[in-house]
Amino acid sequence: MNKTYQIGNRTFVLDQAKAEAAFAAKKVILGRETMTFNLLPLKYQWAYDLYRTMKANHWEPEDIPMGKDIEQWKDADLLTDVERWIIMMGIGYFSAAEGIVGDNIIHVVRELVTAPELKLVLGRHAHEENIHADSLLYMISSLGINPHECEAMFEDIETIRKKNEFVTRTSHLLRRDLDLNDPKNKQLFGKNIFVFGQCMEGTQFYGLFGMVLSLYRQNKFSGIGQMFRYTLRDESNHIELFRNLFMDLVSENPEIWTDEYKEELRETMREAVALEKEFIRDCLPVNAVGLRVEDFLQYIDYIADRRLAGCGLEPLTGGVANPLPWLAEMMDIKKEQNFFEGRVTEYQKASALEVADDDEL
Ligand code: FE
Ligand code: MN
Repeated sequence: MNKTYQIGNRTFVLDQAKAEAAFAAKKVILGRETMTFNLLPLKYQWAYDLYRTMKANHWEPEDIPMGKDIEQWKDADLLTDVERWIIMMGIGYFSAAEGIVGDNIIHVVRELVTAPELKLVLGRHAHEENIHADSLLYMISSLGINPHECEAMFEDIETIRKKNEFVTRTSHLLRRDLDLNDPKNKQLFGKNIFVFGQCMEGTQFYGLFGMVLSLYRQNKFSGIGQMFRYTLRDESNHIELFRNLFMDLVSENPEIWTDEYKEELRETMREAVALEKEFIRDCLPVNAVGLRVEDFLQYIDYIADRRLAGCGLEPLTGGVANPLPWLAEMMDIKKEQNFFEGRVTEYQKASALEVADDDEL
């Protein structure tokens, strides 16, 4: 017996019995292993939709002009030490972080998940980390920063080293030969997804997002600011991807959702927040150039609570107001595409699906 399936505006006719068997064999982990990437019928519709949204947001670093940034970077009268340091920390931290995220997707998460549509969206996620890494090379070459000086920051700046150690700790424990039938290992995998999606991309990226985009709002570093806006929009999709993955993993493996485990995840977020606050104090040692340290620290408490709530976990602080309400609007790039000569608009048109709401920070 045949049945018609609808995905977006495409129609497929599948043998119902085969489709139901394939659907039942799809799981986040321990599902049917297949090399043939058979996406139909879709079980994780969100993953396919997110893949389409991410693809429609495609951008290329070289499309963004860096002329004004270069002018400002080279002119001592136009640049304060604080501004120079924030930009250096931004380039230094993300040069390491983007690679670490990509490595974890390819060698851990995409290896361990089994449903093809999850592998599909994770492939796009890894590609976006490549774009982010490439955008940092573009900033480094445009400003004439010594790449070795940038790399040395991964080790020499203690707050960067500690943030990187925090995330790679849960990544190195997990490689493809892990037995996921063991509930302890399922929890470890869930923790990895939580650490990368909610603690790192979801919280520890936001100190610098806030600072670099605060400068951008003052018309400083317009090229770098644009790239950070594109990156922020991408990250919001990555956070949502890993949040959905986490929620589906838990709902398919309810035995892992114990009170001890929930507390372990909250404590992990607490550590992430502490490391990010140290890092923020390093990036902005004093209030300067219109930036207030307290705002960025408070933002981290605010966003961490939101990430926890998104995963069904209790807040760490509770009742924190958002001190940087404009940050969410920074993701809404559609209205001002002229500098891009309409290229993004072209990519968008090629996509059959609507771009998702931009308020998911
Ligand atoms: Fe990234
Ligand atoms: Mn990311």
